[in-house]
Amino acid sequence: MKFSEKIFEAGVVGAGGAGFPTHIKAKSKVEFVLANGAECEPLIHKDFEIMLNHAPEIVSGMKMMIDNTEASKGYFGIKTKNSNAIEKIQNEIENSLIDMCKLGDFYPSGDEYELVYSATNRLIPPHGIPLDVGCLVNNVETFYNIHQAITFSQPVTEKFVCIAGAVKNPSSFFAPVGTSFKDILDFVGGSPLSDYAIFVSGLLMGKLSFDLEDTITKTTAGLIVLPKDHYLVNRMIRPLEDMNRIGKSACDQCSYCTEFCPRYLLGYDVQPHKVMRSLGFSKTRETHWNQYADLCCSCGLCSLYACPEDLYPREACDQSKVKLRAEGIKYEQKKLVKVHPIKEGRRVPLKQLMKRINVAEYEKPTPFISESPVPSTVKIKLKQHVGKPAVAVVNISQSVKKGTLIADIDENSMGARIHTSIDGAVTSITDDYIEIKAN
Ligand code: SF4
Ligand code: SF4
Repeated sequence: MKFSEKIFEAGVVGAGGAGFPTHIKAKSKVEFVLANGAECEPLIHKDFEIMLNHAPEIVSGMKMMIDNTEASKGYFGIKTKNSNAIEKIQNEIENSLIDMCKLGDFYPSGDEYELVYSATNRLIPPHGIPLDVGCLVNNVETFYNIHQAITFSQPVTEKFVCIAGAVKNPSSFFAPVGTSFKDILDFVGGSPLSDYAIFVSGLLMGKLSFDLEDTITKTTAGLIVLPKDHYLVNRMIRPLEDMNRIGKSACDQCSYCTEFCPRYLLGYDVQPHKVMRSLGFSKTRETHWNQYADLCCSCGLCSLYACPEDLYPREACDQSKVKLRAEGIKYEQKKLVKVHPIKEGRRVPLKQLMKRINVAEYEKPTPFISESPVPSTVKIKLKQHVGKPAVAVVNISQSVKKGTLIADIDENSMGARIHTSIDGAVTSITDDYIEIKAN
């Protein structure tokens, strides 16, 4: 069986959050393979912990990818502050084609456009992907999963997660895919708070949840618990109409949001201050201003760091992008992509960002623990990847063993196979998930 077929069989997808099916990337031929261990979301340390504890497997997976894509070089993107992880990886990459790309502690550093530029000095074309400039980027955990798939034919049934914030024992561990947030929080001793909110996979680019029955997927980076009345929660629960109304009346066009925008600083024509103008314009002009959002990566820095008025330029950009898609409009950048001369001076230190969003007090180590939660039930989502949802191939009451294929997809379609994460019996099949109760 070919390399990409084994990865397809194992249902490997991008574990950093994007969920792009890895077997598709594995079919490419590239010059550079990049391991993304930059991890820039505040409070989350899962990439650091997996590198510290599983460096041989990660480097093995990366070497396999380098061989199969015929790449001439590999780079590990890791922040200098994570020197212990650098040392572990360094020991494994000696005498190989792989070098270290050490990064500063800025937000964002793990964005693919940023990482490709930091490692290779190449700029991905507007709307492009790393492959357009000869690069393949995978999260470090994805390389771990590749190693497990190729070496042991082991499908992805567990997710490495980091549990942080207001919890009794902040930590990182493997958890069965489909474990509920409640079971995950119980596993770390719960929260000292009676009223809390959960940020899933990040404070800036993740989503806010109050649903303890929701479950982790192959792309969940972690859970961050914050008080229900925290500044970030209050911001995120505000209705969109209110965000727009406040933005329309209070934006003074200072343009700080644009001046700090990492995509703008890399040379892409993203200008959130102009997008803010769309809130107050007629339909025709609105479309014009919307276009300045098209190359935005939704990093959230403009809303949560740059804007002195505490407005919502990121949310305005997100709305504008939806409208552009609905109208079938794709912004074509005419000017050359050229890095702004002040880029390095405008980078945002993570520590400063954490202070700005009032989470510095929660910054704590999240040490690896080798035990995993043992849920009595898992709900495994049929869509936890880019592309089509997988289709259930099991029946109600069917017995399954950890690793059994439970939902499939045609190899030529965009998507990924899904396997059960525990031994048990199928108790429910819906359009969204398959529920399995443990024996
Ligand atoms: S930083 Fe805030 S106030 Fe200034 S232009 Fe942007 S959205 Fe408007
Ligand atoms: S969210 Fe804001 S800062 Fe981030 S890329 Fe989009 S416009 Fe730029």
